[in-house]
Amino acid sequence: MIKLDAKRCGDEIYQLISDLYPICRSITGNGVRETLEIIGNHIPLRKVEVPTGTQVFDWVVPKEWNIRDAYIKDSSGRRIVDFHSSNLHVVSYSVPVRQVMTLTELKKHLFSLPEHPDWIPYRTSYYNESWGFCISHNQLQAMEEGEYEVVIDSTLDDGSLTYGEAYIAGDTDNEILVFAHTCHPSLCNDNLSGVALATYLAKYLQGRNLRYSYRFVFAPATIGSITWLSQNEANLYRIKHGLVAAVVGDSGNSTYKKSRQGIAEIDCAVMHVLEHSGQEYEVIEFSPWGYDERQFCSPGIALDVGRLTRTPNGCYEEYHTSADNLSLVKADKLADSFLKYATVFDILECNKRYINQSPKCEPQLGKRGLYRKTGGHKDVGQHELALLWVLNLSDGAHSLLDIAKRSGLIFSQIRDAAEDLANCGLITAAVDEENSTCRSCN
Ligand code: ZN
Repeated sequence: MIKLDAKRCGDEIYQLISDLYPICRSITGNGVRETLEIIGNHIPLRKVEVPTGTQVFDWVVPKEWNIRDAYIKDSSGRRIVDFHSSNLHVVSYSVPVRQVMTLTELKKHLFSLPEHPDWIPYRTSYYNESWGFCISHNQLQAMEEGEYEVVIDSTLDDGSLTYGEAYIAGDTDNEILVFAHTCHPSLCNDNLSGVALATYLAKYLQGRNLRYSYRFVFAPATIGSITWLSQNEANLYRIKHGLVAAVVGDSGNSTYKKSRQGIAEIDCAVMHVLEHSGQEYEVIEFSPWGYDERQFCSPGIALDVGRLTRTPNGCYEEYHTSADNLSLVKADKLADSFLKYATVFDILECNKRYINQSPKCEPQLGKRGLYRKTGGHKDVGQHELALLWVLNLSDGAHSLLDIAKRSGLIFSQIRDAAEDLANCGLITAAVDEENSTCRSCN
């Protein structure tokens, strides 16, 4: 059973988000390295540099982008837009520029959000060499005709793409993968919440007795997961289950996006946790759109990877704007997301199949101290019910999660019953077989 100081857990994850918030990240560059450096203060992290030009499946690792400064000065020499006040002001991957231009020329490079006139949008131009500034619509409208000095002090050169990996070894080489994207600058829910949650999950698992090994990958979205998959293709067979961790700190309901298979054990485990959370939640089918589950669930990779978020990407107003800030994410929601992930791991760790050693009629539980001493009760207790379900369905084919689902009982009750029955020899663990399809979802 997971025991958690929820307040402390949420506060710590929130603090890590605050530490990472000011850094200007992109799909490559020093901001990602600095981010991984800070994560590495919490968990053992291996950093990998993949050089520009490396072929990764159908893609190529791009040039590395770094930025020192950027601004727009008005004719009086005043910085009216300053990269140092918000790194969202510069379109990510903007090529260097140093020019004086009229407002009409400049406006071709300015982006704003008329529907949210106070917010700065987040824009990127990774694969099309250009430049631009993002500003609030109010500021855009207040700009007067005249000449402006425009400077973007950036570099776009051969370098590398940086990703980080934390590996927590369990008893077997079978792995559970958690992926968090690291490419967004000062944006909190998307996806510093996922980065910080993954860091704390790795921290939590360290030093525990684990059946699975866990691999936490911190890499840029799309090109990062593609690069990682391409570089680690030979070891992908070890990954039995996975989750993409993103947007886990807002106040919306938890939302699970199923793996491509839709009936994988990970799908069943997450849905069980949500069903028994006592909260409203949403489950959505897989689609080849969204975050990095697209890559993990592409037909040639086909891993059982789902995505557990709160409000999904693009479905909240603040998404990809300056309003996705430290006040959008809440410590209690981060703690709640953490608990759900940890409970999913707990289920996967314990989800085994057993074989009833006394299958001809019910074995006598009373003489083994497993049943209430007095008879005639109106209802059967939850624990007794769990014992009977485990005995009945422990045929080597049904997992404990299958039994939980079929009985309507929570997994922890089924697991506790199985433990009691195993302790007195009434069930024994089935020889493990490769079978990632969850029978109860089938
Ligand atoms: Zn995003």
